[in-house]
Amino acid sequence: MKRGIRRSAWLSLVLLVLFSGTMLSGCDDDDNDGGSKSIVQPSAKAKYVFFFIGDGMSEVQVNSAEVYKASVEAKIDPNYINSPRLLNMSKMPATGYATTYDAGSYITDSASAGTALACGYKTLNGVVGMDVTKTKSYKTIAEAAKEKGMKVGIVSSVSIDHATPASFYAQVDSREKYHEIGMQLAESNFDYFGGGGFRDNKYPGDKANTPACVNAATANGYRYVNTRADFEALKNTSGKVIAVNSVLDSSRAMPYEIIRDKSSSNDDISLAEFTKKGIELLDNPAGFFMMVEGGKIDWACHANDAASAIQDTLAFDEAIAEALAFYEKHPDETLIIVTGDHECGGMTMGFSGTGYFTYMERMKNQTMSYDKFDSLYANNLSGYASLTDLYDEIESSFGLDMDKNGDAAYQPNDYQMSLLTEAFDKKKKGKGTMNNDEFYLLYGGYNPLSVTLTHVLNQISGIAWTSYSHTGVPVPVFAKGVNEDSFNGYYDNTDVCRKVAAAMSITLQ
Ligand SMILES: [Zn+2]
Repeated sequence: MKRGIRRSAWLSLVLLVLFSGTMLSGCDDDDNDGGSKSIVQPSAKAKYVFFFIGDGMSEVQVNSAEVYKASVEAKIDPNYINSPRLLNMSKMPATGYATTYDAGSYITDSASAGTALACGYKTLNGVVGMDVTKTKSYKTIAEAAKEKGMKVGIVSSVSIDHATPASFYAQVDSREKYHEIGMQLAESNFDYFGGGGFRDNKYPGDKANTPACVNAATANGYRYVNTRADFEALKNTSGKVIAVNSVLDSSRAMPYEIIRDKSSSNDDISLAEFTKKGIELLDNPAGFFMMVEGGKIDWACHANDAASAIQDTLAFDEAIAEALAFYEKHPDETLIIVTGDHECGGMTMGFSGTGYFTYMERMKNQTMSYDKFDSLYANNLSGYASLTDLYDEIESSFGLDMDKNGDAAYQPNDYQMSLLTEAFDKKKKGKGTMNNDEFYLLYGGYNPLSVTLTHVLNQISGIAWTSYSHTGVPVPVFAKGVNEDSFNGYYDNTDVCRKVAAAMSITLQ
């Protein structure tokens, strides 16, 4: 705002003429306050750019993490005043809202949303970096940054070939083409990939455990590391790097933060550590662009597991702290953007059973994600004759007082107990007379018992859900640094990309 106001009217007019039709039409920078504040500023160039994407993260995912933090602290401090504890992202000076609809639906998936954020164009669900006809490829902002001589890093807590990270380096007509995406990663010449692994299921015969795309990458000069020791040994001079966490789930994603091994001897690297290492590897006189995705906020919300979503949102926020620390060293040349690609789960604060009250602190005793509970207990109930036999495991996993001899705050009511008993029976004995529609509405595609457990715990905490899929609400955009004011206001998700490009003096296609 300040920089824009300083510009004289005639200069703004000249710029308007010079850039009309191309940059300005895409940037829509001047639609926030009707005028002068955010005309494209060629002189303001972001040399160090952080693009954080919380997958499945809209305002309620951010705010529930804030209220959770505040609620847990309130239990510790009896003099506490009831207000949210802001996250790093929500403390950033500029805030906007972005639409999320894509070219074919008011509810986007991560491929079309990623394409909008990475390329500045809307496309169809499932399409990565291509137009709606699936014939034209778009250049991504990361590719444009690389062409300018900047170093580029891509970090994600889910597999590095998943739709959101892929949107920054790949062009495919289907997000499911993991082999093709991985092969394009190998050809990208980007400098750093960090976080989850690969879902490429093509293997050359001689290296059964290494996907074809990783072999292609190493042949192209990438160094591939997948232990903490090798990760920590990486230096600014290490060249092109692919760093994969040694602990991955069956989808090649990093573990949920709620179950990440945080002991000092762990081999399990945090999203913040992957971000910090990215800064170390990418820092150079020509600048860098780094995209960091908190990918499993979305997955936890699909499963309606609020505690896991909140912990992953807090881990994502800790990664943002690394960028903010870097910003302090280069405040005039750094831009940090934080946004979501869409909401997921129809999460809301407030539930019919809790009225005007929230009890977020009741989620603090959840010790594992829904899928961990599945693998430990709920996927095989043969050793449990009835729900009663599972009370201890439920109590240690979700903090619910199932036998009702402890704190009443953690006790499901009779109706919720009946839902849990029904879910146990459905998992153990099958659907019975329940039809598919009823089964899906109750449990989505998830284990009936674990999804009902998170539903009940979330309900007594004051959180409710409407979907097992994404929803069509807008997402917040937080900004700090070069051109931050251009991110105020309400605009399209394609304009997030175009505003970042403008701050970098990059012209998109
Ligand atoms: Zn999703």
